[in-house]
Amino acid sequence: MDTDTTWDCIVVGGGAAGLSGALVLGRARRRTLVIDAGEQSNRFAHGIGGLLGQDTRPPAEFYAAGRDELAAYPTVALRAGEVLRGERHDDGFVLELADGSRETARRVLLATGMDYRYPALPGIEPRWGRSVFHCPFCHGWEVRDEALGVLDRGEAGLHRALLLRMWSEDVTLFAGASPDLDETERAQLAAAGVSIEERDVAGLAGPGDTLTAVVFADGSERACGGLLVPVTLHQRSSLAQDLGAAVAAPTPIVADGLELDAKHCTTVPGLFAAGDVSVKMPSVATAVAAGSTAAAMVVQSLMAQAHDPVAAGAGSGAAG
Ligand SMILES: Cc1cc2nc3c(=O)[nH]c(=O)nc-3n(C[C@H](O)[C@H](O)[C@H](O)COP(=O)(O)OP(=O)(O)OC[C@H]3O[C@@H](n4cnc5c(N)ncnc54)[C@H](O)[C@@H]3O)c2cc1C
Repeated sequence: MDTDTTWDCIVVGGGAAGLSGALVLGRARRRTLVIDAGEQSNRFAHGIGGLLGQDTRPPAEFYAAGRDELAAYPTVALRAGEVLRGERHDDGFVLELADGSRETARRVLLATGMDYRYPALPGIEPRWGRSVFHCPFCHGWEVRDEALGVLDRGEAGLHRALLLRMWSEDVTLFAGASPDLDETERAQLAAAGVSIEERDVAGLAGPGDTLTAVVFADGSERACGGLLVPVTLHQRSSLAQDLGAAVAAPTPIVADGLELDAKHCTTVPGLFAAGDVSVKMPSVATAVAAGSTAAAMVVQSLMAQAHDPVAAGAGSGAAG
């Protein structure tokens, strides 16, 4: 009878990256526990845009299908819950869950996603991931040829307005009272047929999750059927940092993504990561790919340790 209570790998997070990683680990017959709080970042969207084989599928359906696939692999267990804390020991990790239970593992794969922070504008929340979105590749198709808007200013606003022109001939850059655009940038926008609106946007109008117009402070409106807004991505909790993982230099989009080596290992030996938690261009497709690659690296690292425990240890250098 197998009395080993230490998992080969605990996957924290059951989104695209975590489920994809768990599938590879299960197929490699590794004892794997997926712990998931069930708050995948795209859960607000009607459908997943741009994922081959699953295009426009509702996110909840996609994640349920992923969990169903894992059920075929006897070494994989799924558990609903939240990991609150973790510690690294010489031979692995101890994770503590919100329900007070503890689990131990030789490796941990962090697939915890990120917190997408959008501007504090009244009316965004009910429309988020639908008529208000951060990524035209994900949601532009659904609002193509409508009157579209970009809420941004300066160079980023210019770039995103020109990008959104791919989806509609009617694009307005809602740059507000401090547009931060020089004459060359204004000329570029004019040449592309993009209007610049210099009144500050005060709110959004339209029934339910639909957007029909942006509203200015004086109550007047401008028609808009889809609004592209800037976001910054932040770690959802201090778990990775508590475990000792270093964060990479911030980018305009990602505030504190994890630093990874070429084998998807963080700066903490044995602690791997995949998905939004460590990318510059977040998408479901990249998360699926990263989860798969990271899991293969976890398997290689376990194999190296099993066959040469003294030399290999639990570190990233051990991942063969
Ligand atoms: C509104 C919106 C719409 C989007 N639409 C699209 C789209 O159409 N197409 C596309 O390609 N991309 C889209 N994206 C981006 C895409 O959703 C992400 O890039 C992708 O989901 C990242 O996958 P992930 O597995 O890294 O993270 P997530 O899918 O966010 O999954 C992380 C999981 O980990 C769990 N978790 C976090 N911390 C813990 C913890 N401590 N303990 C246990 N569980 C934890 C979370 O609850 C969550 O279930 C969208 C993003 C947003 C915000």
